[in-house]
Amino acid sequence: MSSITTELDRVRKRIDKACQDAGREPRSVTLLAVSKTFGPEAVMEAVSGGQRDFGENYVQEGLEKIAALKLWAQGQAQPPSLCWHCIGPLQSNKSRAVAEHFDWVHSIDRLKIAQRLSDQRPAHLPPLQVCLQVNIDGGPTKSGVAPEQALALAQAVQGLPGLVLRGLMTIPEPAADEATALAVHRRTRELFDGLNASGRLLRPIDTLSMGMSADLEAAIAAGSTMVRVGTAIFGGRSVPKP
Ligand SMILES: *Cc1c(COP(=O)(O)O)cnc(C)c1O
Repeated sequence: MSSITTELDRVRKRIDKACQDAGREPRSVTLLAVSKTFGPEAVMEAVSGGQRDFGENYVQEGLEKIAALKLWAQGQAQPPSLCWHCIGPLQSNKSRAVAEHFDWVHSIDRLKIAQRLSDQRPAHLPPLQVCLQVNIDGGPTKSGVAPEQALALAQAVQGLPGLVLRGLMTIPEPAADEATALAVHRRTRELFDGLNASGRLLRPIDTLSMGMSADLEAAIAAGSTMVRVGTAIFGGRSVPKP
């Protein structure tokens, strides 16, 4: 086994264990493999290890991998069906390519970008599945909608025909310990529950995209349904590539 498939198995075991500890079904958590800075070969390795959902941080890099994997899949006896998630910051000039090539966008933080994605989603594709990125801890990166504004943005996004609002996504500041991580993830869970209980959404939301390599256990304990894992699968990103 390559190291990517070995690490993938290790991460799946961590997810299963965290679900067990939380009294949850292991299938209630989807693993997104985040291969940013790594090339299409790394994604192919992960696919051969059974992985199907991929998170991409940089739009251009993601588009290149989507194209490379499409070609590669055509050469396979049983072409795998992959699901591509855009999880990075989104600029208006990239929205068309995202609407045309991705299945999910987790980083919706303003109505204008949501409207563009909806308008630009090709009619022959199913609606784009989206999450609102929430700045749950007021972190200095400042990406994400403020928690108090999440309901208004959610309602507006639910009015857009090219999108389906699935839930919330967060990227909290790295926590010093598991208790701190858990507390932050619980705040997101409370916001999620509050939106569903508000009676003001057109449809309930079902996705909590939170938890990464370092804090996936805490995120799952708090109710995460999608963990986005890079380093623990593909290795560290600071090592220069040959
Ligand atoms: C890089 C990244 C991840 C994965 O982080 P790791 O700590 O490497 O697991 C998850 N989500 C987002 C938005 C990222 O940018």
